[in-house]
Amino acid sequence: MSQREWIEKDFYKELGVSSSATAEEIKKAYRKLARDNHPDANPGNASAENKFKAVSEAHAVLADPAKRKEYDEARKLFASGGFGNRGGGGFSPGAGGFGGGGQTFDVGDIFGQGGGDGGIGDLFGGLFNRGAQQRPQNNRPRRGSDVETETSLQFREAAQGVTVPLRLTSPSSCTTCHGSGAKPGTSPRVCPKCNGQGVVNRNQGAFGFSEPCDDCRGTGSIIDDPCVDCRGTGVQNRTRTITVRVPAGISDGQKVRLAGQGEAGLRGAPSGDLFVTVRVKPDKVFGRTGDDLTVTVPVSYGELVLGTTLSVPTLEGRVGVKVPPGTVDGRVLRVRGRGVPKKSGTGDLMVTVKVAVPQKLDDAATDALKNYLEAEKASGFDPRAGWAGV
Ligand SMILES: [Zn+2]
Ligand SMILES: [Zn+2]
Repeated sequence: MSQREWIEKDFYKELGVSSSATAEEIKKAYRKLARDNHPDANPGNASAENKFKAVSEAHAVLADPAKRKEYDEARKLFASGGFGNRGGGGFSPGAGGFGGGGQTFDVGDIFGQGGGDGGIGDLFGGLFNRGAQQRPQNNRPRRGSDVETETSLQFREAAQGVTVPLRLTSPSSCTTCHGSGAKPGTSPRVCPKCNGQGVVNRNQGAFGFSEPCDDCRGTGSIIDDPCVDCRGTGVQNRTRTITVRVPAGISDGQKVRLAGQGEAGLRGAPSGDLFVTVRVKPDKVFGRTGDDLTVTVPVSYGELVLGTTLSVPTLEGRVGVKVPPGTVDGRVLRVRGRGVPKKSGTGDLMVTVKVAVPQKLDDAATDALKNYLEAEKASGFDPRAGWAGV
């Protein structure tokens, strides 16, 4: 539908009032017509629905004094042939008005946000929401964006799996208007300029092209009575706490995806996803290499020489680890199945033995050690035998 056709429409006739009608007369006429032709009162009656839309549209313009004035002027100009001057496709609103007669106005403004007296919403009762969902997709419902956040876990929590509460502040569907952007009890109405398409067709000479509708900013609908909590956007920043189940064995930097927990979709579209990057704090005792749990156990020289059984902590209780006689310092002993849980089974526990050297010994121990070194030498042990070319 071209702008020319809009100007040709007679909004006064549509409401059954004279062009000199008062605001009160217009309002009264509109209310009666809207009530009589409301689709809820005339189910399946297409002509009533068309009439209902037509009177809503007429009211949107005539109820606003500024728009009514512009409309009147445009019609006067039209009646006097002002539009004919341009030839071809009439006038183009975006190009700065009509050119003729020095009268300039933006036609787009006429059909902008109309009404606003609050009366209209009561009558609409959700009607156009149903229609809107059936309309072809242009740029209206939009899936919410994915949201990223981070959480920090203790080493053992990450290894064993944990459920953590996560506080999130993110745009969510407004709870007051359920995302419609319209004040509760009211509904957005179909944008009359683009007929709900979100785009308008413009003809310039031989070329026709579409551009996003200015009046509804491409959404296809106009909200007369915006929801106060989200100022008509349908989206609110909300802080919510969600529970995230982090699977056992997650490692530092891995992400957990929570489907549908991201930003709310626009106008009923699905929400985006939430990605939680997990940071794992280092542990004092354990380390990790993949699914293997690593631990370093201090031992004495004597324990390595003679062999011993060490009591080693694991993620679940302690385990006895046999150190064979003659174990060298730094050797790694593997304990199967006592590591980090993985998808199938569990990793291993890798135990590194490391000699702790006493910094201070009493006389008895010192004497004993001296005697020992003598005996060691006598038995033929030379720690540097074959070392560095000796
Ligand atoms: Zn809202
Ligand atoms: Zn529009």
